[in-house]
Amino acid sequence: MPFRYSRIGQRLTQSTGALELMDDLGSAMSGDRAVAMLGGGNPGKVPAVQRWLKLRLEQIAASDADLARMICNYAHPRGEVQFRRALAKLLRSELGWPVSADNIALTAGSQTAFFMLFNLFAGEHEDGRHRRMLLPVTPEYIGYADVGLSDDFFTARRPSIELLPDDLFKYHLNFDGLEIGDDIAAVCVSRPTNPTGNVLTDGEMDALDARCRDAGVPLIVDNAYGAPFPNILFVDAAPVWHDNIVFCMSLSKLGLPSVRTGIVVANEDVVEALSRMTAVMSLAVGSVGPVIAQPLIESGEILELGRQHIGPFYAQKAARAVELLRRELRGVPFRIHKPEGAIFLWLWLEGLPSTSAELYAALKRDDVLVLSGHHFFPGLADSWSHRDECLRISYAQDDETVERGIRGLARAIKRAHARR
Ligand code: PLP
Repeated sequence: MPFRYSRIGQRLTQSTGALELMDDLGSAMSGDRAVAMLGGGNPGKVPAVQRWLKLRLEQIAASDADLARMICNYAHPRGEVQFRRALAKLLRSELGWPVSADNIALTAGSQTAFFMLFNLFAGEHEDGRHRRMLLPVTPEYIGYADVGLSDDFFTARRPSIELLPDDLFKYHLNFDGLEIGDDIAAVCVSRPTNPTGNVLTDGEMDALDARCRDAGVPLIVDNAYGAPFPNILFVDAAPVWHDNIVFCMSLSKLGLPSVRTGIVVANEDVVEALSRMTAVMSLAVGSVGPVIAQPLIESGEILELGRQHIGPFYAQKAARAVELLRRELRGVPFRIHKPEGAIFLWLWLEGLPSTSAELYAALKRDDVLVLSGHHFFPGLADSWSHRDECLRISYAQDDETVERGIRGLARAIKRAHARR
């Protein structure tokens, strides 16, 4: 007899897009078949980061103090204090943000930060009202979709679409009819956006920020890919922070996903709330990532690493993947979201004879892993055929894998058209 799971137990164990993604990723990494893994969010191995990492680990191993800080002591539930101080200093000097270590909470990866933040704000409130998270632009990050501990957790909106030359397009935040009423708990956008590689413009961010302040709800900005680090940005985008913005960062896309370090920059109340939640859930946050990265942050070297190595590494990979797609997909209808940042291409296959979920399954049988676009519309209530016409492709892996994957993808798309 299987054990009976609680409602929350069932909610957290149901089949989800994020689980499918991490399952695919885990099997691809551990199996013996040559799978073209264009599905997961694993960052690439940037040579300059790898070199730095090895040196830093040697340094830590030789230092009793660093070693103790890294693994022998519990950190504060807000996270390792020297790291938070160094980061606050960097944010003050580089971006002019008026922050101290008390404005920074660390979490076990930023995914955990979203679980904590979304449930802190959204759900049942003391006045009896149910308030939801608003995602003003979908497609939006798959990892948000299932973190809510109550039903009817998200509401979301379609973007407007700008068609661009050279098979490109771009999503824009559609302000027409955007209302942030009393039923909204908080607003969240990822910038750069996973899955699309979109970067909301500074103008769009300013306008959204103003709407959130008027409505008195926090604006959560998911900056897993943006500035000041890891800086996987191919367009200019100014990071903004004040008391009403909850700005989330991560060490993952720098190249350290398994240290699970998320960073939340917020007003002191929110930081204190997160710290209390951490104490309940896990006593403390791990210090492996913070101790590894601290000298990079303290010296400001992290900025150079981003500008000179990480950003260009991905920009070059994005350009290569776009060229490959254009070459391989010649003859079938397609558009690519203008790659402005992050590590993905978002492919729009208008008129595809099958759904993107069917295409995903066919590709998986051919050992090519991508993600079907339909996962990326959490909270969007209206039917929109666009949902079933898109795929997310990661270009972070080595060039040979990306090329093999794109060739396989093109074959499957052409096969689907030929069967019509
Ligand atoms: N936010 C976005 C937009 C992401 O793409 C990811 C991971 O892919 C995360 C958050 C979570 O990252 P982590 O939990 O590794 O910090």
